[in-house]
Parts: sequence; C-alpha cells; structure tokens
Amino acid sequence: MEQVVAAGTERRLAHLRLLDDPFSHRLKEGIEQEAIDFALAAGQAAAEWITGKWGKAPEEIAAALRVPVTRSDEPAQAGPSVLFSEYRARPPSIILYARSLEETNGLIRAHGLEELLGLADVTPVHLAHELYHHLEGKKLTPGTAGFRIETARLGPLHFRTGLPSLSEIAADRFAMALLGLRVPPKTVEFVTLFHLNPDYAWRSLARLQALPA
Ligand SMILES: [Zn+2]
Repeated sequence: MEQVVAAGTERRLAHLRLLDDPFSHRLKEGIEQEAIDFALAAGQAAAEWITGKWGKAPEEIAAALRVPVTRSDEPAQAGPSVLFSEYRARPPSIILYARSLEETNGLIRAHGLEELLGLADVTPVHLAHELYHHLEGKKLTPGTAGFRIETARLGPLHFRTGLPSLSEIAADRFAMALLGLRVPPKTVEFVTLFHLNPDYAWRSLARLQALPA
C-alpha cells in the first residue's frame, strides 16, 4: 500500500477514472487536465458551500438534506468491482453496504494501515461521496454538468453529453475536502482490491505510475 499512496496522487487517480470512462475517447486530446480541473473545482466548491451551511459531519448533512441513509447486509459484489455504497435518486436515499465497508475496515486494522491512510473507518468517506451525488443530482450545486463534450453531429443537430467519471472525480474531492482526508478515497479502495483481486490491483498501480503526476 505504500506504493499506492506514493503513486496515487489525486490527479493521477482522477486521470485513471477518466480513461476508464466509456465516453472519454470522445474528449479532444489534451483536454483531460482541463476536465479534471473542472471536476475537482466542482467538488471543492460543493464541500465549501455545504460546510458553511451544515458543518462537516456526513451523517448530519444527510439528516439536514433529509436523505435517509440505510445499511444493507446484502453482499455487494458487482462483477469485478466491489460496491461500498450507492445513491438512489427516486426517492433520494443512500445505501451503505456494511459487509464491504467492514471488510475494508478489518483489512486496515489487520495490516496496520491506519497511520498510512489517516483513517480507521471508511464509512464516512463513502457517505460523503454519495452526498455529493445527491447535491449534483438535485442541482443544489452547479456540479460537473457544465463540462460537456460533443458526442454526435447529425446535420443541424448537436448532441452533447457529460462524462459520468467527472461526477465521480468531483464526489471524491468533495469527500476529501469535507473530511480532510490524508489520501484520496480511491487510494483506500486499493486495500480491498489487493485482497480480492490482486492482479487487477497491481495492473492498476502500474497504470497509475505511468500517468503524469
Ligand atoms: Zn459515485
């Protein structure tokens, strides 16, 4: 995990997310950093706004926004990736998958990673991340929708779409700023990745190290 912490700058992790976005090939070359900057600024602005209004405690913010938070004991493996939490828009609610959260917390304890990662419980990180999706979904914050790419051009019609990964990058910055995290949320996810899917974890680390810091 020391290698992940060293290589996993917020920018590199954001870049990796962008590259894995199914729409990212439509981004004009060289515009990646601009897109990442846009998303980071959106997450930061939302965190500052909400802190001024309701403080920094995710549970309290959820209560103030009247977003119910439920814990599920269902296994949350979705294909190769692990689901830690989920935001549902209609009606607004946040689901925390207790098994995957507890598994990560257990691994952090077992490997003595509290000091390196700066946390012992990942629950608030995921709750904060999902709160951002609520703020953006309900247009309580400008969010990342302002950054759009042209995806098709049919005669006089232009179709434009946002990039889902930008919302994820913003949500992680929101969590980082709100909770004053030492390392980006995506870095912490490697704890579980190395446990469940080490080949994928090592490949992701190599991809990270190859990106511009
Ligand atoms: Zn998300």
